[in-house]
Amino acid sequence: MTPPVPITSAAGTLLYAEDGSTYIDAISSWWVNLHGHAHSYIAEKIYHQALQLEQVIFAGFTHEPAVSLAERLLPLLPGNMSRIFYSDNGSTSTEVALKMSIQYWWNRGETNRKKILAFRNSYHGDTFGAMSVSDRSVFTLAFHDLLFEVIFIDTPTPENIDATIQLLQEQGEQIAAFIYEPLVQGAGGIKMYDAALMGRLLAATQRSRIICIADEVMTGFGRTGKLFASEYLSEQPDIICLSKGLTGGTMALGVTACKQHIYEAFVNDDTYKTFFHGHSFTANPIACTAALASLDLLEKEGCRQKIDWICRSNQTFAGTLAADHPVKDVRVCGTILAFEINQGKDGYLNSISSFVTQQAMQKGVYLRPLGNTVYLMPPYCITEEELTQVYRVIKDILEPLSR
Ligand SMILES: *Cc1c(COP(=O)(O)O)cnc(C)c1O
Repeated sequence: MTPPVPITSAAGTLLYAEDGSTYIDAISSWWVNLHGHAHSYIAEKIYHQALQLEQVIFAGFTHEPAVSLAERLLPLLPGNMSRIFYSDNGSTSTEVALKMSIQYWWNRGETNRKKILAFRNSYHGDTFGAMSVSDRSVFTLAFHDLLFEVIFIDTPTPENIDATIQLLQEQGEQIAAFIYEPLVQGAGGIKMYDAALMGRLLAATQRSRIICIADEVMTGFGRTGKLFASEYLSEQPDIICLSKGLTGGTMALGVTACKQHIYEAFVNDDTYKTFFHGHSFTANPIACTAALASLDLLEKEGCRQKIDWICRSNQTFAGTLAADHPVKDVRVCGTILAFEINQGKDGYLNSISSFVTQQAMQKGVYLRPLGNTVYLMPPYCITEEELTQVYRVIKDILEPLSR
């Protein structure tokens, strides 16, 4: 194992290391950063908020940043969401969605609906509920006996869609919720699947009254080219989970948004129907302020144009990669580009990953493949020169492998 590299500062897409090296952060520091590091606009908003109100208990109290953020986010979200529940990371946002769904049916007295439906190859976080609904993999191996039972299905293909819809007709009444990463499965290997077929699958899920949970923790805030990946789909979720890019990647914050009918199942004088879930830092005012600042930047015309430009550049680069390189499944979804290196076994444990990381870092680019899956997910502030360098470095790394 190579020791971690001490990073002393960062600006835009660049990470500055203690030894004087710089790296283009081509994966947005694990998919969180949107507008570049140490962004002065977000930093100043954070500073002023910290001087005014840094944290307050969010039970019996509320505050302007939390209210403003909910008011700004709700009209942006697909599916006519009506309420926001705050937590402090992606795993808690999915935990909240799962607990909300299960208790929704419990509060309504439909207690036979307890099962969760999820995709194979999915990733929804590292806490126990989130692990349970994630694919069983090397990440979860030590805990398999303790994870709750989940019905796993494959992402939709023309071959399997009818069988999956059949399964929903047979078992739908026992299923409380369906959790999915719309269009792109992140940690499972940046796997992409068809929007039209997913629309059909969601329609069938909704016919069975199953609560649909879109985990947009990774896909949210422009990564797929649209503000949210769900916008590509014909059917919208009942619950949406957000984190990662929510604050532009500056502060830890989680959001679970839900539709009015879900919220209403909890509004009751009966204490037993309360949603007993909260974290110490629920709706932290500094984090909410950072999210508001990130939205300001996202809504700027220039940002939209940068996202569109990254999408187009990725398409062009993907076309040049497919031809004569030792790669397969070159795929693009908006600002996300991925492919597999044709060497060794597919999967997270493929050792080509650390080789690629080392090679790229020597050339000034930070990449961190998932096994043999190399991917790009740059911050939107990446310059033309930097993106060209990233593409060139990828080709340089692949070159000796082709022989
Ligand atoms: C990263 C991720 C999570 C977990 O978020 P954390 O903040 O790391 O807990 C959940 N779902 C998806 C789709 C993710 O990519």
